[in-house]
Amino acid sequence: MSSEASVLDAVPKQLLIGGKWVDGQEGTLSVEDPATGETICEVADATPDQATAALTAAAEAQAEWRHAAPRDRGEVLRAAWARVTERADELALLMTLEMGKSVAESKAEITYASEFLRWYAEEAVRIDGRYATAPNGQGRLLTMKQPVGPCVLITPWNFPMAMGTRKIGPAIAAGCTMVVKPAKQTPLSMLALAKILQEEGLPDGVLNVITSSSSGSVVGPLINDPRTRKLSFTGSTEVGRKLIEQSAEQVLKVSMELGGNAPFLVFDDADVDDAVEGAMVAKMRNIGEACTAANRFHVADAVAEEFAEKLAAKMGALKVGRGTEDGVDVGPLIDESQREIVEGLVSDATEKGAKVVVGGSRVDGAGYFFEPTVLSDVPGDAKLLKDEIFGPVAPVKGFADEDEAIAAANDTEYGLVAYVYTRDIKRALRVCEKLETGMIGLNQGMVSNPAAPFGGVKQSGFGREGGYEGIEEYLETKYVAVNL
Ligand code: NAP
Repeated sequence: MSSEASVLDAVPKQLLIGGKWVDGQEGTLSVEDPATGETICEVADATPDQATAALTAAAEAQAEWRHAAPRDRGEVLRAAWARVTERADELALLMTLEMGKSVAESKAEITYASEFLRWYAEEAVRIDGRYATAPNGQGRLLTMKQPVGPCVLITPWNFPMAMGTRKIGPAIAAGCTMVVKPAKQTPLSMLALAKILQEEGLPDGVLNVITSSSSGSVVGPLINDPRTRKLSFTGSTEVGRKLIEQSAEQVLKVSMELGGNAPFLVFDDADVDDAVEGAMVAKMRNIGEACTAANRFHVADAVAEEFAEKLAAKMGALKVGRGTEDGVDVGPLIDESQREIVEGLVSDATEKGAKVVVGGSRVDGAGYFFEPTVLSDVPGDAKLLKDEIFGPVAPVKGFADEDEAIAAANDTEYGLVAYVYTRDIKRALRVCEKLETGMIGLNQGMVSNPAAPFGGVKQSGFGREGGYEGIEEYLETKYVAVNL
């Protein structure tokens, strides 16, 4: 079993530029354990010039990497998958130290993250084009798929490795090079992953990693640099909007995985116990800090009270604590400002009339803990029905009929995911067709799967990660009109 000190020692703390690990010219930035509020280590703080140097390395490596044999690209990914899998315990502990979730949850993320490496190892050799006879029978239509070119990949703190491999896997498979910028709160998992890819034979310059205390100032020059051909961003809608605007200057190919406000619908014909099980996963995976987290529970009036009580019993039984401790289910929130947001949303709802069924408060002491909370009788004007909660809080609101449920579910600018519990197959399909989201969990509380296209509609973004679709984001289609 690895110790905290040994996993922290093993991870590189520098920038990866052109295959070399280098210090940050801006000094260092501190990484904190959100369970204690204490600094666990320092990592390099890059300057904008160093970010540009990373892009130069990516641009130089691109010429050769695009011609690397697909099988060779796939083999690097496959070897990295095997290594990540072999080192899952140590990588999970590292993730818990920087992000807070329980080691068991971190381990689940390591598995999820590594599966993108394996899936895209398999997809690297399946990139194809087509050859067709033109409708008039005269010419031929030839299409080929080619790597987009150097990419800038920006990831959030909530899934420190999986949000990276969802981009890095398909980019490597497609033959693109990249500069990756993880969130400053959780850079360690990404640095550990970069070292693994390097050790497993990824050529210098294909993957470059920049960590920074000032994301806007290092990313800005990259987005404005004509050598960048693609931006893939996972994070908040607010930052995503700004990056879309900045990307217009160079007309970048853009993918945006943004915020969510997932409705969880329970109809009166649903198996309530199943729905509660699904609700626990949809709400509590990642301490509620997931873009896919069920943000609001719309439950048929006939079963709303039963659902809220059963959910509260399960939520109240969860063990809150430092993610490294045995038996802990719920770790801390990422920082104090996130905890204040969650606390503010709960107070707003209770002031407007919501009832606290369980939890409702911050946990005193070190770290940024918040009690697993269920609120019932939540009024329609409560802010937490509109805003992304990003914490362990489940608001329950009743509905009278199917139309009201669908209208409530769609009453948001977000459109990432929805969850539907019903045993009526006709209703299930009818409701799925009407929901304005990119993904739906039908009688299940989790949709994430490396083999499926993950992504949103409306202000949850555009583009898909995972599945066959995920690699298309890193490929251009070139068409050749052939005269025989
Ligand atoms: P965030 O504040 O938008 O940050 C995301 C990333 O963007 C971080 O690396 C951040 O760096 C960087 N960033 C911030 N401002 C920037 C700027 N002006 N220019 C360039 N980069 C900038 O989001 P977060 O708080 O880390 O993550 C939570 C959000 O991500 C939630 O809204 C969640 O729903 C969303 N999310 C979406 C998905 C999805 O697939 N749809 C998945 C996971 C999370 P620093 O943090 O270092 O400043």
